[in-house]
Amino acid sequence: MFKFERSVEKMVESKKYLAGGVASSLRASMKPTPLFVEKAEGSRVEDVDGNLYIDYLLAYGPLILGHAHPKLTGNIHQSMQKGYTYGLQHQGEIDLARRITELLPSADSVSLSGSGTEAVMLALRLARAHTGKRKVVRFHGHFHGWSDSIFTAFLTPDMTQDISQQDEVSISPGTGGQSEKSLEDVILLPWNDVEALESTLDEHGHEIAAVISEPVMCNNGCIIPKTGYLEKMRELTSKQGIVMILDEVITGFRFGPGGAQERLGVTPDLTTIGKAMGGGIAISGVAGRRELMQLVESGEVNHLGTLNGNPVSTAAALTVIEELVRNDGAAFLRMDDLTDELVQGIRACLKKYRIPGLINHLGPVFHMMFIEETEVRDFATFQKRDAAKYTEFAAILLEEGVLVRPSGLWYISAVHDRQDVLETLDTVERALRRLAA
Ligand code: PLP
Repeated sequence: MFKFERSVEKMVESKKYLAGGVASSLRASMKPTPLFVEKAEGSRVEDVDGNLYIDYLLAYGPLILGHAHPKLTGNIHQSMQKGYTYGLQHQGEIDLARRITELLPSADSVSLSGSGTEAVMLALRLARAHTGKRKVVRFHGHFHGWSDSIFTAFLTPDMTQDISQQDEVSISPGTGGQSEKSLEDVILLPWNDVEALESTLDEHGHEIAAVISEPVMCNNGCIIPKTGYLEKMRELTSKQGIVMILDEVITGFRFGPGGAQERLGVTPDLTTIGKAMGGGIAISGVAGRRELMQLVESGEVNHLGTLNGNPVSTAAALTVIEELVRNDGAAFLRMDDLTDELVQGIRACLKKYRIPGLINHLGPVFHMMFIEETEVRDFATFQKRDAAKYTEFAAILLEEGVLVRPSGLWYISAVHDRQDVLETLDTVERALRRLAA
């Protein structure tokens, strides 16, 4: 079993200088302690105690080519030798934007920024400017970044904030310091519920600028849309002159070259992308219909950011995309197959130890949870899971050499291999045996 003495010491040191000891609140929730990394390569991470992990956290999603990928590292290095940011235009931005328009069904043109949060901010701004309306519909359990105008309670299950006492339908700020007023224009609905969406759009369609949704509710339960649900969202938003935004910050360039929208066959007006596109380098984007995107060109909508579209991030994203799509997208098929094998193996282990639990799964992402129910298709059912037990399980996995997010969400990269999966299944079996004991 691994020891974490140096990580514990470093956390004490870090808290002296870095607010909260971590650079993103989510990271504080890792048990038994937030890990401090020494180095990482491929599918493996080594911490400062010398422990080596198979990594399924993958930096919360971006590391689709794993760590320190030689081609990506080489291309970033080459790009940096020509300067790392210009505040001026360059060919890389054009090449990347063109590539995105070729691959993503909803993309006529693209705006680039640094994080998913910023991409969502721009998408909402475009929707409001385009429609002249103010309100935005968002859904329970979806996460769209941490900007005040969209960040609500019920965010991601590994936040440290205690949200268990809040009732499910109320909308309240997701953090101290967020004005209640910032959410005045947000309507919060249950997801995967056609009636709730239809009646709200019927009643309030005249004041709703946008409906924003993850295509698959990856942040809470990896819940897949019910048959026809996204299609209905598309139909209703079109009918009411509402901008449909698919937040593909997780699913873009992960569910396939054209993201979840291609896989599920629904084309939104605007799409936000980030995470996997940069392979771990900060970059995000909004892509969409020309009619909307031209608001940036006309100057009606301001889109700003000192480091937007810098050559290092565009070189990284171009490399990631080319690595993923070469050989007819073989990387996506491999990731899907490996994930299937891992998921089937974990399901078999759960059964063997008679531990009530399930895995929701699509593409190279899955959510494992301990729960009595046999199916989780909505956020309310997801909330019934035993989150504390999963956190304990994740901590045991960590002690045994498998790094996962304490929430239950697992990512697989294009560099994970069968050996990783087989080793992981051994570890999962040991961890479940310990949990069941
Ligand atoms: N949208 C979704 C669906 C996300 O999962 C996230 C982050 O996890 C964001 C937006 C925000 O992205 P970022 O953390 O890059 O600001």
